[in-house]
Amino acid sequence: MMIDDERARLKMVDEQLAARGIKDRRVLSAMGRVPRHRFVEEALRDRAYGDHALPIGEQQTISQPYMVALMTETLALKGSERVLEIGTGSGYQTAVLAELAAQVYSIERIVNLAAKARHLLASLGYRNVTIKVFDGTYGWKQEAPFDAILVTAGSPEIPMPLTEQLREGGRMVIPVGERTTQVLKKVTKTYAGIEVTALTGCVFVPLIGGHGWGDADA
Ligand code: SAH
Repeated sequence: MMIDDERARLKMVDEQLAARGIKDRRVLSAMGRVPRHRFVEEALRDRAYGDHALPIGEQQTISQPYMVALMTETLALKGSERVLEIGTGSGYQTAVLAELAAQVYSIERIVNLAAKARHLLASLGYRNVTIKVFDGTYGWKQEAPFDAILVTAGSPEIPMPLTEQLREGGRMVIPVGERTTQVLKKVTKTYAGIEVTALTGCVFVPLIGGHGWGDADA
């Protein structure tokens, strides 16, 4: 029920996000608004606001709320940004970004997930989101440069096209490491080059593509 979903959502914001150090008011209020339960199957609705990732089909997952909050806060969005997301998945993270930036471009390699997310985001009224089916490790050249880039799948390396498509002063957040565990990294582009800092250990599904993992070992 709507009241229950909202109560669970506000509890999630307090107990999983604010209590663990997420400070950006805009991130907290965006995650208090986006109806996460709509991004999971009806059968998982009771667990939508739980402290974990959940399956979304096609062997993919919607990330844990805390991870979504941490990645989003790290991008330091003020409202005017053009943001690129790699790995639309359920579209939940896309919606959070759409609440906080001017334009969101999101790339998903699995046709079914992209179609579902596009439909859901439109029905929730998001007008500033464009989704395409593509290998996101090549970025979205026609729409570059971006103020912020968020990669929501684990990569063996920082894909060069993404660094190239980041504006000077821009931030990218990306899990980098092995197929099964990674370190969440913040990449900042300055006039002098690239600065990389490590944020935390994490577990994401693999980023599969030309500058990611091979398809064969998917
Ligand atoms: N942000 C999503 C998380 C989805 S999991 C959410 O909130 O639901 C990561 C997604 O990345 C999966 O849907 C997977 O299909 C996608 N993906 C993996 N490699 C990709 C690539 N090279 N380009 C685009 N999407 C990719």
